[in-house]
Amino acid sequence: MVKNAPSVLIIYTGGTIGMIENPETGALENFNFDHLLEHVPELKRFNYRILSYPFDPPIDSSDMDPASWVKLVKIIYYNYDHFDGFVILHGTDTMSYTASALSFMLENLNKPVILTGSQLPIGTLRTDGKENLITAIEIAAGKNSDGAPMVPEVCIFFQNSLMRGNRTCKINAENFNAFRSFNYPPLAHAGIHIKYEPALIRQPDRSPYRSLKPHYLFDTNVVILTLFPGIQQEIITSVLRVPGLKAVVLKTFGSGNAPRKAWFVNLLKEATDRGIIIVNITQCASGSVEMERYETGLQLLQAGVTSGYDSTLEAAVTKLMFLLGQGLSSDEVRRRMALNIAGEVSVPHY
Ligand code: ASP
Repeated sequence: MVKNAPSVLIIYTGGTIGMIENPETGALENFNFDHLLEHVPELKRFNYRILSYPFDPPIDSSDMDPASWVKLVKIIYYNYDHFDGFVILHGTDTMSYTASALSFMLENLNKPVILTGSQLPIGTLRTDGKENLITAIEIAAGKNSDGAPMVPEVCIFFQNSLMRGNRTCKINAENFNAFRSFNYPPLAHAGIHIKYEPALIRQPDRSPYRSLKPHYLFDTNVVILTLFPGIQQEIITSVLRVPGLKAVVLKTFGSGNAPRKAWFVNLLKEATDRGIIIVNITQCASGSVEMERYETGLQLLQAGVTSGYDSTLEAAVTKLMFLLGQGLSSDEVRRRMALNIAGEVSVPHY
């Protein structure tokens, strides 16, 4: 290996990608990451310094939680100066939540953190895992002509697309194109070459005193409330009365609309008056909340509801838990929900 070879730390949390078919029984088993190179011999051709850090035991991503995000941030923080970039292998089911949470937790990030996984285990013939892993490693080590990291962001790389992590959602449980970023274009496309879109990539403040600042605290007193025609008053009343509740992500119709029934608007107003933060995001996969657009949205604004603009559900939930974890007042959390902290939201300038 050449001196000063690029270096990448692979953190394996669990999920389908790290599985292999037992040739005798046909069952899927977690493979031992100490033998990564045996399973993916292609990695040797990189001539990179590649080390791995497996979670023990590996976890299905349905079990991911703030404690696991803290563990990931600690691993990155303690190894930050020793690697050019980080690849996190993660189950696909909650990958967008983890990517969103990490984007808030890793303040002043100046190195690539690339999450990837696969729909088929790496140890099966038609796996999409090898391609995802190999390209994710190349992106994590990528530098521009000045020697600065090409993508100093938390991203998801999946089936040829590099996406800003906090803009993604899982959209497919069957096909290889499992993720989409509906409200922000991909940061790179991997074809014959990896074609980056520098104008879309966030550039950190590189001044020396702006070093990586990890955050570890979350407050999970948050609920997701999805509206549907016919939703009952008792349901909304009991959700808003959950003891300890601090914030609600309200999934509304279209550009942020909700029923005009007086009981509904009164319940929301009464909750926001009590300090509960209600953030409005749309049930549509693509597009933004604009509460000023229709009477059915305006009434929410008047009831003290905060716009989540074009935020994904995953980004809205993790951002609320992150801001609440900092012990801020309701008004300050509402104010910061309307700010773009890590590229997660497009705030309109009127
Ligand atoms: N259930 C798995 C997980 O999310 C699926 C996957 O790895 O894609 O951990």
